[in-house]
Amino acid sequence: AVVGSGRVKEEKIFVTVRVRPLSNKEIAHRDQIAWECQTENTISFKISASSHDRPNSSYTFDKVFGPTCRTDDVYEKGAKNVALSALTGINATIFAYGQTSSGKTFTMRGITESAVNDIYSHIQNSPERNFTIKMSALEIYNENVRDLLKPDSGPLRLLDDPEKGTVVEKLEEETVKDNKHLRYLIGICEAQRQVGETSLNDTSSRSHQIIRLTIESSLREASDCIQSFLACLNFVDLAGSERVSQTHTEGTRLKEGCHINRSLLTLTTVIRKLSSGKKGGHVPYRDSKLTRILQLSLGGNARTAIICTLSPALSHVEQSRNTLSFATRAK
Ligand code: ADP
Ligand code: MG
Repeated sequence: AVVGSGRVKEEKIFVTVRVRPLSNKEIAHRDQIAWECQTENTISFKISASSHDRPNSSYTFDKVFGPTCRTDDVYEKGAKNVALSALTGINATIFAYGQTSSGKTFTMRGITESAVNDIYSHIQNSPERNFTIKMSALEIYNENVRDLLKPDSGPLRLLDDPEKGTVVEKLEEETVKDNKHLRYLIGICEAQRQVGETSLNDTSSRSHQIIRLTIESSLREASDCIQSFLACLNFVDLAGSERVSQTHTEGTRLKEGCHINRSLLTLTTVIRKLSSGKKGGHVPYRDSKLTRILQLSLGGNARTAIICTLSPALSHVEQSRNTLSFATRAK
């Protein structure tokens, strides 16, 4: 089977927004809650003092999750359908997008856990099929790719494979024995990432993490119809969105280093092009490592869920507006 060989119906990218609760620190600083989740689909800016009064203060998405929402619920309504499509040969990617400390890692950990459980219960309920699951994980920091399953490995190169598209050279790929083994592997990646979180120059806010499952299955009994599936399921915890400046529009030359994150900027352009639904236009996948690695899981036979995470605090309102306008353009 070819990767992503299942059939996907024409569909927009599924975009949801999750607002976390105020943190203890924000409460101690008497920060205010700036956002109200009015319906299941709408979020609005609720501070109406004249200085904050601006047009376009209400935003509508496929789903909006308020501060009391559990991650289980975010998974059920915001990611499950996309995740499970990888079982039927459709490449799937779930992203968390938002500023640093808005809840990306918190959300992706829970989503990954729920998806893994769902996948294994599906496998248990499908005795007629034979499944093989492989797992790999990487981090992109400053356009360098690092293997999260092999802590001491150096930067990895990307190669173009005529059949598989862009592949990461020498990336460790473990064949997963069962649910417990997969959790163990995910644990290794998380430990790797935490090293970054606690280091002085907090690399975690500037790096992207991808956990990738490759799921292959075929019918145990020989049958007339070709019934094998192969697809990737990607869990992507992005760098903090404050790393992409709103003033850098397409066509502007990327500044290296400093605060601009090439992969994140290119991703926002790619998502916008894909969601605009125009056929045949140039999609600049090749402009960054992240989009090269995810190309086959974004364009073509693929489904995407983007969970945009938001701080509720008034003090973060500018970044929150940036996140909501990204989310609006991704719809
Ligand atoms: P990010 O990865 O976007 O930088 P984190 O996921 O690390 O942000 O979240 C920042 C802090 O807020 C963490 O301490 C996390 O446990 C907490 N947090 C995030 N989202 C929630 C939530 N929905 N409910 C409760 N705590 C949350
Ligand atoms: Mg994080």
